[in-house]
Amino acid sequence: MAVLTRDETEALIAEVLEVYPDKAKKDRTKHLAVNDHDVEQSKKCITSNRKSLPGVMTIRGCAYAGSKGVVWGPIKDMIHISHGPVGCGQYSRAGRRNYYVGTTGVDTFGTMNFTSDFQEKDIVFGGDKKLAKLIEEIETLFPLHKGISVQSECPIGLIGDDIEAVSKKASAAIDKPVVPVRCEGFRGVSQSLGHHIANDAIRDWVLDKRDGQEYESTPYDVAIIGDYNIGGDAWASRILLEEMGLRVVAQWSGDGTIAEMMNTPKVKLNLLHCYRSMNYISRHMEEKYGIPYMEYNFFGPTKIIESCRKIAAFFDDTIKEKTEAMIARYQPMMDEIIAKYRPRLEGKKVMLYVGGLRPRHVIGAYEDLGMEVIGTGYEFGHNDDYDRTIKEVGDATLLYDDVTGFELEEFVKRLKPDMVGSGIKEKYIFQKMGIPLRQMHSWDYSGPYHGYDGFAIFARDMDIALANPVWDNMVPPWKKAAVPDELQKVA
Ligand code: SF4
Repeated sequence: MAVLTRDETEALIAEVLEVYPDKAKKDRTKHLAVNDHDVEQSKKCITSNRKSLPGVMTIRGCAYAGSKGVVWGPIKDMIHISHGPVGCGQYSRAGRRNYYVGTTGVDTFGTMNFTSDFQEKDIVFGGDKKLAKLIEEIETLFPLHKGISVQSECPIGLIGDDIEAVSKKASAAIDKPVVPVRCEGFRGVSQSLGHHIANDAIRDWVLDKRDGQEYESTPYDVAIIGDYNIGGDAWASRILLEEMGLRVVAQWSGDGTIAEMMNTPKVKLNLLHCYRSMNYISRHMEEKYGIPYMEYNFFGPTKIIESCRKIAAFFDDTIKEKTEAMIARYQPMMDEIIAKYRPRLEGKKVMLYVGGLRPRHVIGAYEDLGMEVIGTGYEFGHNDDYDRTIKEVGDATLLYDDVTGFELEEFVKRLKPDMVGSGIKEKYIFQKMGIPLRQMHSWDYSGPYHGYDGFAIFARDMDIALANPVWDNMVPPWKKAAVPDELQKVA
């Protein structure tokens, strides 16, 4: 059940767009929609994956961010060079909390920043020699690394450096994979193309490179695809898959290694969590190696149980029995969490605005706690993401694609949710309005949120955000008119 009727939600969209000039209004109208369960394909009601309008605030990242920040960066035993000026590398370093096991700077490198630190002369004379020298230095200083990726930033594509040639030569010299990734930030309309480019680089430079090497197969080999181990998510998921009796051969790419990636074409089933960032490589493995992939959702017990049974159905009775036993084992823990938090959270309304899979995947976890998602949208989703979202949210729920700062604030002011789940750029705006916000990109420095262990933390975090006494001392802007002058000054 949405808080507004279809007509009311349509009227809300029209009213909020009223301030825009005609051209902007026409464009933005296409990105805002009222959910309709009768629609088969979202392209009939919402437009996505288009260029953001200049002048209206967007919170998208660039293609480099999609490749280096999301897909490649968490592969822990490789060194990922941010090739270009230092800033992109510095700002994309360690922000996503991709936890890993290892000794940083010795055999794992996830939180370090390697950059070719481009200067003006490199722009004028080219940076190929500098890149080659940097790879030589890396080999001397960090001999235990298992490979290098070259993540190109904007200037590299603009000046036309041949990173492929440098990488090939360097790879032969150091006898390790050196992968050039053409993820210059200006490509595409958001980080989404960076995910695709990163997947293509894995396809072209990694997947077939262990052919002929020994691999002992089991009937239960699976790979986790599209889990970045934010706050330990992949670990909380892996525990469940292993309890089901499956052997997790690879984690892509949180706490993952290049050897795991190379072995993935040998698994029986790819398990895809973040569809947006890794559907390309999953499809490729299906087409080329005949490995099916299955989407799953490990947020909240309802979706976990649904997903585990779906995964188990792919295997034999041994796995099905173990899965049921696992579900039964965790049920009392889940019942306890729900008994504790549901009475405190029941009926609370949430608006989401996130990237990747979260605008739809976390809905079930909120529902397990009795909460309702009344608006949701993607920063860089495509229509296949909205196709999946239509089924997850109630009819007449507000959907917003690449929403502008103005629109989101207005929607929040009018729908008055109890909580917003979004990113760091929205966090302080809404908190200053007196609305609790959980940062749903990196779990607000908490987590994991995946799996049964993650749900316990998710429930606690939502409760502490909502129950914080600070909100009673803040007056949202739309209430200020009704507040006496003296109190307004305090607020
Ligand atoms: S858009 Fe270009 S300059 Fe900006 S962060 Fe991305 S790669 Fe770097």
